[in-house]
Amino acid sequence: MIATTRTITTNRAGGEHPHARSRPETSTAPDLRSYDHILVAFSGGKDSLACLLHIIDEGVDPGRIELHHHDVDGRGPPTFDWPITAGYCRAIAAAFGVPLYFSWRDGGLRREMLRDNEPTASVMFETPEESIATFGGRGNPGTRLRFPQVTADLRLRWCSSVAKIDVMRSMICNSPRFLGKRTFVVTGERAEESPARARYATFEPHRTDTRCGTRRRRHVDHWRPIHGLEERQVWDLLRRHGVVPHVAYQLGFGRVSCMHCIFASPDQLATIRWMAPERFELVAEYERRFGCTIKRDAPIHAVADRGRPYPAALARPDLVQLALSEHWAPTICTSPERWRLPAGAFGDAAGPG
Ligand code: SF4
Repeated sequence: MIATTRTITTNRAGGEHPHARSRPETSTAPDLRSYDHILVAFSGGKDSLACLLHIIDEGVDPGRIELHHHDVDGRGPPTFDWPITAGYCRAIAAAFGVPLYFSWRDGGLRREMLRDNEPTASVMFETPEESIATFGGRGNPGTRLRFPQVTADLRLRWCSSVAKIDVMRSMICNSPRFLGKRTFVVTGERAEESPARARYATFEPHRTDTRCGTRRRRHVDHWRPIHGLEERQVWDLLRRHGVVPHVAYQLGFGRVSCMHCIFASPDQLATIRWMAPERFELVAEYERRFGCTIKRDAPIHAVADRGRPYPAALARPDLVQLALSEHWAPTICTSPERWRLPAGAFGDAAGPG
C-alpha cells in the first residue's frame, strides 16, 4: 500500500537561514492514518518534544503514538545522563496519555566504555506486554577503555550508535509486532543544527525497513517532521501547547542530551562541575585511567576552567535539585500565557545528540 501524501509549508520567518539554500522550503507529510504504529524517538529534549506536539497537531490520536526513550546509562550507575530525564519523559507521557517505552544497551555507555576483551552488551527493551526483551550481546570480544571521541569519525564517536541508533534498530528488528505492518519512526533532527543534518532526508525508508525482502517483511518509514524548523519555531510550538521544557534548558543549557555529552562546551562543563562535582570527578578519573581525554586538546577540568557556570543555575538551587533528582514533581503543562522561554533558549547548543 502506498501512503497518500500532502504538502506542509514550513513557516520560515525572520532572517535568512545559513542552510536555506540547501534545504527544501516544503516537506511532504505522509498520511499518518495509513500506519499501524507511530514511534517517536523521545529524548526529552525540545526537538523530540516538538515532534510529538507536531503530530498531535496533525490530528493523530495520542493513543496511537508510542514514545521510545533510550536510557544512555542502560540501568547502570549514573554516569552520562541527566538523572531527571527519565522522570521528565514519564511526566510528558502521562500528560499526553501516550505510552512510553524504555530501551537501552545493558550497562549503557559506561559499560561499553569500560569494555575490555568483551563483546558489546545486549540491547534490552520494554514491550507492550510489560516484559523486558533482551537481544544481542554475543558478538566478537573487543576493547575500548576510552571515551567516545569528539570527531566526525563514527567509529571513534561511537556513543550515538551504541546507546541510541542501534538500540532503536534492535528493538524494531526483534519485535514481532512490527512484522507485516506499517510502522512510522519519527525523529527530531533539524537542518539548522549542522551542515550534516541539513543533508538528512525529511522522509525515507527507515534503516529497519524490509518491505522488498522475501522474509520477515516490515514496512518502516522514517520522518523528520521538524527538519525545516528554526529553533524559534520549536519554542513557539512548546509555548502554544504550554509544555514546560526539560529543566536543563531552565538551568541555561542550550540543548538536552547526555549531561556529560562529549561535545559539552566550557560553560556547560563549568556548570556541571559546580552542580554535580562527584559526577564530574568520576569522568575526570576515567580520563586519568584511560590516559586519554574526552576533548582532544585538554583534560575535562582544564576545559571547565575556561568556562563559567550559567547564572540561571547559580540563581536556582531548586532547579539544580530537580535536575539531579529522578522524579519530576512540578507541573508539566501550563497555559501559553504563563509559559516562559527557558534561560538556555538560543544559547550554547554544542553537540550532535
Ligand atoms: S548526547 Fe553526546 S555523549 Fe550522548 S550520545 Fe549524543 S554525542 Fe554521545
